[in-house]
Amino acid sequence: MKILVINCGSSSLKYQLLDMDDESLLAKGLCERIGIDGHLKHQPQNGKPVFDEDLPLPTHTEAIAAVLEKLTCPEYGVVSGMDEIGAVGHRVVHGGEKFASSVVINDDVMAAIAECVPLAPLHNPANITGIEACKAVMGDVPQVAVFDTAFHQTMPGKAYMYAVPYEYYKDLQIRRYGFHGTSHRYVSARAAEMMGKPIEELKLISCHMGNGSSICAIDGGRSVDTSMGFTPIAGLPMGTRCGDIDVSIPDYVCQNTGKDVTTVTNELNKKSGVLGVSGVSSDFRDLTKAAGEGNERAALALEMFQYAVAKTIGAYAAAMNGVDGIIFTAGVGENDAACRAGIGQYLGYLGVEICPNCNAKRGQETFISTADSKVKVMVIPTNEELVIARDTKELVENA
Ligand code: ADP
Repeated sequence: MKILVINCGSSSLKYQLLDMDDESLLAKGLCERIGIDGHLKHQPQNGKPVFDEDLPLPTHTEAIAAVLEKLTCPEYGVVSGMDEIGAVGHRVVHGGEKFASSVVINDDVMAAIAECVPLAPLHNPANITGIEACKAVMGDVPQVAVFDTAFHQTMPGKAYMYAVPYEYYKDLQIRRYGFHGTSHRYVSARAAEMMGKPIEELKLISCHMGNGSSICAIDGGRSVDTSMGFTPIAGLPMGTRCGDIDVSIPDYVCQNTGKDVTTVTNELNKKSGVLGVSGVSSDFRDLTKAAGEGNERAALALEMFQYAVAKTIGAYAAAMNGVDGIIFTAGVGENDAACRAGIGQYLGYLGVEICPNCNAKRGQETFISTADSKVKVMVIPTNEELVIARDTKELVENA
């Protein structure tokens, strides 16, 4: 079965077409500037040329139509017709407490995703638009929703509750949800395979470090805690997000600057994190370069990030009463050896020993701990699309 995986943002649409008979990638691409003007980059994996051009994309419906046209046309195509695509899997950001696993989309599921819009006002509407656009263009082809939050629904109350008036939880659904669940699920399963042990017997800490970053404590294959919270701003300092801060800060800034809370929240999401501290960039490559040239604020931002990751790993080792394996993944985790080494330096007390030679590798599955290291440390490139395609295949075949 061939499965189209869609990840819709408010003005973008990423896609991959996978052949699930051998899990091979047939094509991938990205529509950008939807609703503004429009651009499509389509990359067939069969030797046909890349299409990388502006084209009008007034809505997501035209974007999906353009993607399907490219996937099926003689010049750039990888399949002979739309009827070869057996199902569509969608990344959906927020499933609230309604979804602890992936589901085949029907009217009830659409209503439930819509009910979660207040919890993810930037993301869920785009996901809904993507699903509706596929329905408009592809008709009755089965569609599946795979939620970023679902993997974390196994967290116990002591991990997901905030110590706030209970009505906040009951009436407003305020609790820790956690995100990046599809990535944490994928890399923890791969880690168990690499370690040659059943995941049920392992205590793992997965560090997804990209533009957005989160850490997850996975005990016996189940998420038991994670650093993002009610929204993806919480936990670690990120590219542009502040991570955990004293909750009095926004009000204090408002009182002293005349800014309103929406402006400050926006600054905490978009102008904070390593960008805010360094004043240089949200990209770790730029920060490393600037720090190397003597920029102290860039060096401080990198140090703060590594320190926060190390503290969270320590907290999760405590939460699980031990740790067998630590995983680094996503843009920074897969590529930034200096960052991994810096984090490793805090973890000697746990029995972590990083092997400098192994750590020098980039972007491939590998152990980076020494043979003697009590805790195994791994780099595992994440593959959220593959998880979405696998869930989609399983659900559609068993529907
Ligand atoms: P997203 O959260 O948007 O999916 P990614 O996982 O793609 O992000 O991570 C993007 C980040 O990864 C970039 O902002 C950059 O900081 C970092 N990154 C990518 N390649 C490297 C590299 N070679 N060295 C250091 N950092 C890198």
